[in-house]
Amino acid sequence: MLNAKQLLGSWALVTLGLAQSVAAERATATSPDREAVARPTSSLATTATLSPRAVVLEDKKITLVDDALTPHWVVRACSIAPAAAAPALHKAVATLTAASPKPYTMPGYPNIAVIEEDGNIVGGGDINLANAAKYFYQGYKDDRDFLFVFASTKNEVSKDYNAYYRSLRNTTTGIGLDTYDYSKSYGSNGKLLGVANMNTVNKWKNFVYPLLDLWPLGVITHEMGHQWIAYVKLKSGTITTDPNSSLRSHWDPLAHTEASIMYGNDWKETTPPLTVFGKSIPGTYLSVGLPGGFSSLDKYLMGVHGPEKVKEFFRINATWKNILKHFAIPGNMATGSKVKLTVSDIVAANGARNPAWKKAQTSFKGAFILIAEKGRKPTDDELKIAEYMRKRIPEHFKKETDNRFSISTTLNKK
Ligand SMILES: [Zn+2]
Repeated sequence: MLNAKQLLGSWALVTLGLAQSVAAERATATSPDREAVARPTSSLATTATLSPRAVVLEDKKITLVDDALTPHWVVRACSIAPAAAAPALHKAVATLTAASPKPYTMPGYPNIAVIEEDGNIVGGGDINLANAAKYFYQGYKDDRDFLFVFASTKNEVSKDYNAYYRSLRNTTTGIGLDTYDYSKSYGSNGKLLGVANMNTVNKWKNFVYPLLDLWPLGVITHEMGHQWIAYVKLKSGTITTDPNSSLRSHWDPLAHTEASIMYGNDWKETTPPLTVFGKSIPGTYLSVGLPGGFSSLDKYLMGVHGPEKVKEFFRINATWKNILKHFAIPGNMATGSKVKLTVSDIVAANGARNPAWKKAQTSFKGAFILIAEKGRKPTDDELKIAEYMRKRIPEHFKKETDNRFSISTTLNKK
């Protein structure tokens, strides 16, 4: 993780910019043959920018520090409606008919399921994920855990978010969620965990190998994280955002979360709380990190590792705060007292995770679905963007889960 000085240094570099090399990258960015190019890991450890958009890259960690791009998990939280609301929010067509669009593939992209708009999928600035899923299952086996649905529209279609996730099925206890299964309303028979609205493919076209592509990959990883993370309660106080707010289903900014990709901050105490002449003076805390991978608590909730690996953490009982952004970013500040927490506090309020990590699901399957506008096939450029992310996410997800989880994005036709 960057310390504050490094961060400032990075920003200086960012300002200088590497616009020319980025421009060159952009030209070839979404070419599928980029997969064949050896990944220069050293370049990922450097700082780069697409000026004037400030981007900081540190190894596999990435964040945007400028609102200009309205990046997904930076500017707006995802819209995670309670799972029980899923069938009503996206009401699927009651029965599929011969006229219902069948998924097909385009030459060169056998693992992108294309579905042509029939008037029942994209509308109102949103994707009807239930219909997209039901149409998908006409041609493919019901063996997916996650569906990632993109649209080929010009306008954005993720309800003013950059992307969002909808959980449909949960069998894990101890993570702050009830168990439920709404998969049937999306055409799956008790298999599908959830669906991500990944917005229009064009949303992601400028985030390119090797400098910027960690951002869209981080978005997909973040959406999958919503299946398990940031729902737990405490017996006293909270470390999650208000479930009734637009920032719901993320870690609260006042929680010290190692600057998780699911938000919260990497807080450093600069002045300890004191008692002077019987009067308590609150401590001062500065946020020093940027959203990175999953925290040790995140990984416990996911089932990546056991409770013994969760680092002690804390929340700030704030008497004053200056939260510039609801994600980890230097500039966020708070004063108050530190409430130390351990995984025992999580277990005490939510129960132990069940199944325990050794029995947790570790192997997942995802499908990349592209909704094509009515009357036209998707263009090669549109397919390339989805394909690029589809090919890269297995490696990224594996690394972010300590090489324990895997996700296959190869489709299985019926
Ligand atoms: Zn989110």
